[in-house]
Amino acid sequence: MPKSNRSHLFTGLLALLLSLPVHAEGFITRLLNKPVPGGVAVIDLGNPQQPPKVRYQGKPVLTVHEDGQRWIAIVGLALSVKPGRQQIELDDGRTLPFEVGTRHYAEQRITLKNQQQVTPNADNLKRIERELAEQTRAYQRFSARQPSNLLFEKPVNGPLSSPFGLRRFFNGEERNPHSGLDFAANRGTPIKAPAAGEVILVGDYFFNGKTVFLDHGQGLISMFCHLSEIDVKPGQQIPRGGHIGKVGATGRATGPHLHWNVSLNDARVDPSIFIGAFKP
Ligand SMILES: [Zn+2]
Repeated sequence: MPKSNRSHLFTGLLALLLSLPVHAEGFITRLLNKPVPGGVAVIDLGNPQQPPKVRYQGKPVLTVHEDGQRWIAIVGLALSVKPGRQQIELDDGRTLPFEVGTRHYAEQRITLKNQQQVTPNADNLKRIERELAEQTRAYQRFSARQPSNLLFEKPVNGPLSSPFGLRRFFNGEERNPHSGLDFAANRGTPIKAPAAGEVILVGDYFFNGKTVFLDHGQGLISMFCHLSEIDVKPGQQIPRGGHIGKVGATGRATGPHLHWNVSLNDARVDPSIFIGAFKP
């Protein structure tokens, strides 16, 4: 290459480098920042001496020291969050704004033979209410531990079936949107922990069937539903990739599959974000 071309190349590269923002986005930010209803907002907190304490809608938020460079807040956005300007609150009283975009969620129509699973009777409604309160308490836990990993392993080997956020109609009646991600897998397929965690709740619920809650730390919580078999107990520490139970069809399920919820600051978010499978 002639000398003058080399120097042009060098000048070009230098210009490119100088035009990059001072804080180039780190890996976690690029992976997780999907600020839409049902998504995740990653917010730069700078590099204060003390780990910052952050809240969103009054609830404590996961913070991570990214690349040893700066603190970031990783905020779960419920499906009910309104697009537009939102804000997080810092413990020193400051607020930081961020923008939430829009995302389209499709509809799904499901036929169930058991009408009780569409319009439950009074006894079942009481049971559902009790179970909902128990599960809500689990989602509201905020433990001090740092998640072992934010890029999750898939909990089962199997294709994705039903996506997160579908508006669902059971026998023609609209019910809650799909709060997790479904994997098609045969009955008995082993389920693995996508990150290390403590088992904080197990149950056999009216809608969710046999269920395990895993606390990965700082409000990042996974729920696994419709299991045929639960192989862990509350209080047990599960390593990343550790065995939890087996795929089944217990509760309101039309066939064997794994339903996996991911919750951040008590907001159910799209698990596909954490396995690098998010589609806008
Ligand atoms: Zn599901």
